[in-house]
Amino acid sequence: MSSNYADTRLLINNEWQDAADGRTLAVINPATDKEIGRVARASIKDLDQALAAAQKGFEIWRATPAVERQRIMRAAAALVRERADAIANLMTLEQGKPLAEARAEALACAAMTEWFADEGRRVHGRIVPGANLASHQMVLKQPIGPVAAFTPWNFPLNQVSRKIGPALAAGCSFLCKAPEETPASPAAFLQCFVDAGLPPGVVGLVYGDPAEISDYLIAHPVIRFVTFTGSTAVGKQLAAKAGAHMKKVVMELGGHAPVIVAEDADVEVAVKSIGAAKYRNAGQVCIAPTRYLVHESLANDFQKAYVAFSENLKVGDGLASETKIGPLVNERRLQSMQKIMADIEAKGGDVVTGGKRIGDVGNFFAPTLVVNPSMDSMLFNEEPFGPIAGMRTFAKLDDAIAEANRLSYGLSAYAFTRSFKNVQLLSERVETGMLWINQPAAPTAELPFGGVKDSGLGTEGGHEALEEHLISKVVAVTGI
Ligand code: NAD
Repeated sequence: MSSNYADTRLLINNEWQDAADGRTLAVINPATDKEIGRVARASIKDLDQALAAAQKGFEIWRATPAVERQRIMRAAAALVRERADAIANLMTLEQGKPLAEARAEALACAAMTEWFADEGRRVHGRIVPGANLASHQMVLKQPIGPVAAFTPWNFPLNQVSRKIGPALAAGCSFLCKAPEETPASPAAFLQCFVDAGLPPGVVGLVYGDPAEISDYLIAHPVIRFVTFTGSTAVGKQLAAKAGAHMKKVVMELGGHAPVIVAEDADVEVAVKSIGAAKYRNAGQVCIAPTRYLVHESLANDFQKAYVAFSENLKVGDGLASETKIGPLVNERRLQSMQKIMADIEAKGGDVVTGGKRIGDVGNFFAPTLVVNPSMDSMLFNEEPFGPIAGMRTFAKLDDAIAEANRLSYGLSAYAFTRSFKNVQLLSERVETGMLWINQPAAPTAELPFGGVKDSGLGTEGGHEALEEHLISKVVAVTGI
């Protein structure tokens, strides 16, 4: 066991506890393949306790003034900032990403928590005049109830902060099943909320068998809202389950971001922005660019610059200061990359850089570009969730837009152009939740974050995220 990596327990009623039946799961460092610790595996008995706590926590928190909620959330954010180095160290050990990325993630989560803390003070209803002037018609905004959140391993903190921020700001309690692969960093994040003075039960944290926990929590009457980040396939199952119990959902699912490099693009800006966005977190990002659609006149320049960018990045253990790309989170991801490349070999496409695993310890995969992958390749149709991208050329912008819209995903898209006419056309026509033009993605707290089509439902950013957690109750009063 690593000396600076503690085992993770369940957080119920502001206390850390083992699973009732004492069961645990192993946590593996993806850079070394070694077990570094254990995480408690919740049983139904633990879930019942966590649900009862969430109900009590909700009653306390909904009755807490917004200004007091803001104070506690801001105090939690200050602790996250203070502890950013320690949290980042845990995240790199269990998830693999370079320390600098892990630290930046912790600081971004502090900022996100502060933004939602402040936004919670701006929740208000309205008075609506009607035909009957004697009736005073009010729309009250009230918290929807205890939230069940399911978060993934790619951004162990960020995905929790995107969900806890709007939930707490709206006055909901928050019960999270965080990822078993990366349990310690989200636990350290939620510890900051406990230390900041959050009343017992307002936040809970469990780990275990994902399907067993989601089945139980979604169906349970205490839970009123379900939020999930992960694959489209699992999201559809959870949304169907929530629908069967008439629970509201936010689903943040897979993507397959197109990148349109128009004839008048600045290639240097495009490569810098896309390269950075592609290789962050070793490509395990739902908004990662994947299908590069480059105008035929720029194809050679783009390819050359992108290959140079890719080959200049050091792949290695995230704890080493020179590392720019860490390992993939687990062996399953590595196998997925190998499957994508075997499919390219079978169906055609030029691997102009990368294409292979690096070494035989840890889940390292080389930054990869495939030129002209076939249209029916896995790479051009399924989310790779790793450092592999494909590039094809186009002659007319309309064709590039049609290709961008071909898949059922619609989370994020990128475009590069100097023309305002193109900007207008792309803004109107690309089917996506987020379109980044001449820049990398910058999904800050104040902006909505979510997809269309199979990429999800609802949003996890901006005031819209708070709205998701509120009900609009009508009260009409006639004076007598
Ligand atoms: P997976 O589909 O097995 O799991 C994805 C996430 O969902 C994990 O966090 C997992 O714990 C959780 N999960 C799985 N089944 C669940 C269930 N029945 N109830 C509740 N949670 C459940 O895939 P994986 O191998 O861990 O990850 C690979 C794929 O997941 C990627 O290809 C990508 O599409 C997707 N993913 C997306 C995001 C995102 O940010 N949108 C994050 C992580 C993974």
